[in-house]
Amino acid sequence: MSQYILEVKNLSKHFPIKGGLMRRTVGYVKAVDNVSFSVKKGETFGLVGESGCGKSTTGRTILRLMEPTSGEVIFDGKNIAALTRKELRKARRDLQMVFQDPYASLNPQMTVGEIIEEPLRVHGIYSPAERKVKVKELMETVGLNQSYIDRYPHEFSGGQRQRIGIARALSLQPKLIVADEPVSALDVSIQSQVVNLMEDLQEQFGLTYIFIAHDLSVVKHISDRVGVMYLGRMVEVGPKQKLYEQPAHPYTEALLSAVPIPNPKARRERIVLKGDVPSPANPPQGCAFHPRCPKAFDRCKAERPELIHLGGEHYVACHLYDEQEKSAVLTM
Ligand code: SF4
Repeated sequence: MSQYILEVKNLSKHFPIKGGLMRRTVGYVKAVDNVSFSVKKGETFGLVGESGCGKSTTGRTILRLMEPTSGEVIFDGKNIAALTRKELRKARRDLQMVFQDPYASLNPQMTVGEIIEEPLRVHGIYSPAERKVKVKELMETVGLNQSYIDRYPHEFSGGQRQRIGIARALSLQPKLIVADEPVSALDVSIQSQVVNLMEDLQEQFGLTYIFIAHDLSVVKHISDRVGVMYLGRMVEVGPKQKLYEQPAHPYTEALLSAVPIPNPKARRERIVLKGDVPSPANPPQGCAFHPRCPKAFDRCKAERPELIHLGGEHYVACHLYDEQEKSAVLTM
């Protein structure tokens, strides 16, 4: 039996660009372009990159909150991308999402009890009385006092609202949770509390996470492996320790150089990237990172690098490593 609970194979999500009087399709924004990676049961896979790199679209496309343009998402042996609506509804019990902005994702007109109960009600699980008991249990599980059950989202702090979002995601006892920047909107002091809670829940319920963040420092603590995305493509995947100690891709190196080091005596030279992330509607030819890459050379402008195997579970898409032996990419 495969050790992977999720295998994403050549996943793409392209959005048409409409133009002219007839609103014809004149191009595509390749928000996610041929992305492949796998997630092991019980691990946390960190997905990182600057805003606009496609990481959130990848998460939503995996759960089919957005329809993929092409590719496969094999979850527990089933291709989620090919399920009928009815089959998808059933599969959704196992696949849940925690959103970045807990305020925007919680219906302000529903009480906390109603918000957490809703997935159970929609799926017809338990009687109303049993659901109320379950909701109270879930509130306790995520560290919310069950006496708050009739309060509304605006009566809670940001950290508490994210706990409500997590309780809601847990209500159907999912196997995989995609957490899309779950702590980015929170104060730094609250971020670690929510990350610690997610770790405790992972251990308690055997959960698997895809943890999306724009910052490598956020995912460092919680991730087992990390994937780095740039302009819709995966540019490096590796075990956490490898990626943080020996980053292979110049983009990963630059992201890492911005991560604070806990030791005040240690120094790390900050790599400041030139310019902004180019538009995914018009990505640069060759390696999409070449206009900003401090190590770019002629070949980078002409040829797009594919992911190559560096050894173990470490993969990179960069011509600097092309000379090394290429190998199958899909099982990362
Ligand atoms: Fe830089 Fe070239 Fe590697 Fe792209 S392929 S990351 S431009 S060195």
